[in-house]
Amino acid sequence: DDDDVVDHLIVGSGYGGAVLGHRLTAAGHQVLMLEMGQDWSTPGKDGKVFTKMTEPDERSMWFRDRTVMPLATFLGVPIDKVIPRGPGVLDRIDFASMSVYAGRGVGGGSLVNGAMAVAPPRSLVEERMPDVNPDAFYSTYLPRAQQTLGVRSHDAAFVAESPYYQFSRVGRASAEKAGFPVVEVPSLYDPDHLQAEAEGRAPASATAQEVIFGNNHGKRDLTKSYLRLARASGRLTIRTLVRATTLARRPQGGWTVTIESVGPDGTMRPAGTVAAKRVYLAGGSVGTTELLLRSQAHGTLADLPDAVGQGWGPNGNIMVGRANHVTSPTGMKQSTIPVHGIDAWTGAARADRVFAEIAPLPAGIETWVSLYLAITDNPRRGSFGWDPARDRLTLDWSPEHAAPSVAATERVLDAINRAAGTSYRVDLFGTGKAFSDGFTYHPLGGVLLGQATDAGGRLRGHEGVYVVDGSLLPGVVGVNPYLTITAVAEMIAEGAVRDASA
Ligand code: FAD
Repeated sequence: DDDDVVDHLIVGSGYGGAVLGHRLTAAGHQVLMLEMGQDWSTPGKDGKVFTKMTEPDERSMWFRDRTVMPLATFLGVPIDKVIPRGPGVLDRIDFASMSVYAGRGVGGGSLVNGAMAVAPPRSLVEERMPDVNPDAFYSTYLPRAQQTLGVRSHDAAFVAESPYYQFSRVGRASAEKAGFPVVEVPSLYDPDHLQAEAEGRAPASATAQEVIFGNNHGKRDLTKSYLRLARASGRLTIRTLVRATTLARRPQGGWTVTIESVGPDGTMRPAGTVAAKRVYLAGGSVGTTELLLRSQAHGTLADLPDAVGQGWGPNGNIMVGRANHVTSPTGMKQSTIPVHGIDAWTGAARADRVFAEIAPLPAGIETWVSLYLAITDNPRRGSFGWDPARDRLTLDWSPEHAAPSVAATERVLDAINRAAGTSYRVDLFGTGKAFSDGFTYHPLGGVLLGQATDAGGRLRGHEGVYVVDGSLLPGVVGVNPYLTITAVAEMIAEGAVRDASA
């Protein structure tokens, strides 16, 4: 009955959800947020909330018997470890030819990511996001996102000297030798904490192999910015370990969301429904698209725009490693937080349109490896569908889709190898494979802004349903994406708050 109808329901607590949570509560609205992962605030038996990458357990991955790390092997030795099943913080969603990594818990991807807070190139916003006003984006929403997230610059002197950034300096030098500019990227990892832990004055996290299974210290994840503000208002309620499965139009007006509770062994059990006047979808590119396509397949939503499921891309992600000369060690000590990006997108004379993060390989031993996560401007897009027989989301994406990304990465890395007289590592992603094209950290698209939604993120034909996360973005944003997602969510929040007060 009507007593149980909430005004504002947010599905998911990552960047998009957190922005809406803060802006709606700040405008005086009561908000209910559903999050399928845990609230990561209680330490485990070892006194820590999160595990190191090298010592995974049931906290590390979302219901897996074994870790599934981006690097499969090292010198032919498998890296993955057997772990107990549990609602761990890092998920990997496996489609036929693409695996998507995503954070699970209050704070979404901010719990597991590398904290790099990079602004997208203006040309990208202008060319690929026609429904975003670039002037407003760069003068209003981006600074608002940077400020509220708490983005800071790394300490240049520290980066220039610390043994923990030897790997990054080696990567930088070889890129510059090949003529590529290298930029120092802003971050949400506290530079003071980083320096203090490197010098033994603070508890170690980035310098202690913590990142993709969470950081116990130093990282300003969303629970320390947007979600903290929203909680402090006293108007936000978060229900954890609850997954939204379908959305339906409520005959009396508004929307009904069917929910399941997530059991300790990963079994999902029906847990009733939540009715809401307005629903904000923030489950991330895969989560939001899945909810909509399941609703359509199960017959709870009719008239879904044809654009739902379309326009997906992995931000052109390709991972690749180079073998440095023995005279260029990358260091036994490596911080997990990247600080440098090779800007072969806007910075280079050639039009490679590649932005390659110089990534750490914090193995605790000398590897001589320079590792890169390249972001490339691949024009090919995948699309989501629904397999009724298996009742699950599918992704039409093949190695053919990734081919332009591999080619662009190869052009840049070939040039670096030529200048340095070095070669690729072919033992990291399965034998003989230099370029890893089968996973992404940066899923984008599925419910594109201005196509499946209007320019304010309102799902077309579904009044009161908003999409506020990475599913809005056009498959590639040219840099690591959360800052762009946050800024776009700020833009949508402005209109949503206006709608709510109208
Ligand atoms: P998410 O942050 O994924 O949040 C979605 C939330 O919704 C999750 O908490 C999820 O559990 C929840 N959810 C999903 N479906 C449902 C449902 N049906 N019901 C209830 N809850 C649901 N980006 C950068 O910019 N810089 C980096 O350094 C960086 N490093 C990364 C490293 C790793 C290992 C990974 C995995 C990602 C990284 N990213 C980085 C990417 C970045 O974290 C994501 O782009 C970002 O988190 C996406 O934001 P979002 O709001 O779209 O969704």
